[in-house]
Amino acid sequence: PFDVLVVGGGPSGAAAAVYAARKGIRTGIAAERFGGQVLDTMAIENFISVPYTEGPQFGSALENHVRQYGVDIMNTQRAAKLVPAATENGLVEIELESGASLLARTVILSTGARWRSMNVPGEDTYRNKGVTYCPHCDGPLFKGKRVAVIGGGNSGVEAAIDLAGIVEHVTLVEFDSVLRADDVLQRKLRSLPNADILLSTLTTEVLGDGNKVTGLTYQDRTTDASHTLDIEGVFVQIGLLPNTEWLAGSVELSDRGEIAIDDRGQTSVPGVFAAGDCTTVPYKQIVIAAGAGATAALSAFDRLIRTGVP
Ligand code: FAD
Repeated sequence: PFDVLVVGGGPSGAAAAVYAARKGIRTGIAAERFGGQVLDTMAIENFISVPYTEGPQFGSALENHVRQYGVDIMNTQRAAKLVPAATENGLVEIELESGASLLARTVILSTGARWRSMNVPGEDTYRNKGVTYCPHCDGPLFKGKRVAVIGGGNSGVEAAIDLAGIVEHVTLVEFDSVLRADDVLQRKLRSLPNADILLSTLTTEVLGDGNKVTGLTYQDRTTDASHTLDIEGVFVQIGLLPNTEWLAGSVELSDRGEIAIDDRGQTSVPGVFAAGDCTTVPYKQIVIAAGAGATAALSAFDRLIRTGVP
């Protein structure tokens, strides 16, 4: 069996694998797609000490770093089920979709998350060409431009407030007739001179010139009339879905489906730790995920010492 088995090969999983392997214990990492979300990213400008890199380059740097240690890398393997240990210091089992089964003294879950998309024409075409899901990552690219934020929950309204300080103008677009964000955020947004709010509005298409976003069309749900908004950026903020469906019933999840962890990365199951975007950690960013992966690996190692393994 593995001493530490990491499930997920994004920044959090890679950091966990490196930290575990450096303790000289038997470490494995199983990932559906090594690299994770960064593979879908263009510019990365906020990983501290690296002023600029690109997603695919960062993704292969993660893999190269893990390969420098004797980590058993199982790429293109999707975990389908976690079976907690039968006894207090027993082995945790991870069943893979391929039918194989892996046993480990400790497991680190780092399966990340995915952004919910609008599913309208143009959204995929202009992804990373004006359509974005991360205001912390891409806000500065739209300095002085006009943008829209889709979604009136806390993350959408926070994004609109944040962007209003950078861009020329921001329009918040909400499907419902009311915003769901906290009152204090709504008041703040409404007080800003360069922010508008469209309620009862359905985004119908992202428009572009072939290279980048030029606008979006929407339908006013009270009149059914169609309108066009001239903008250069669309920030989609309608939900981040953790990749944890396969854990329901085995590990405690929050009401948003995030793996509940404490400040050491411990989950509700003994010997099972978690890190990164799949957890209840408040902010979803590469540097945060990597730090959480290190935390989870050190916690797993601490458990191994206490249960007399290494
Ligand atoms: P992920 O990167 O999501 O990795 C999850 C891993 O788990 C993957 O290997 C996946 O294949 C695997 N996996 C999932 N389910 C299973 C399963 N059942 N079995 C096995 N493996 C599984 N953050 C920044 O800090 N700066 C940026 O500039 C930035 N730009 C971004 C741009 C885009 C387009 C996107 C989508 C995100 C961006 N982010 C950025 C966010 C950042 O990518 C994430 O916060 C970070 O990747 C989270 O790392 P993670 O390891 O927790 O999860």
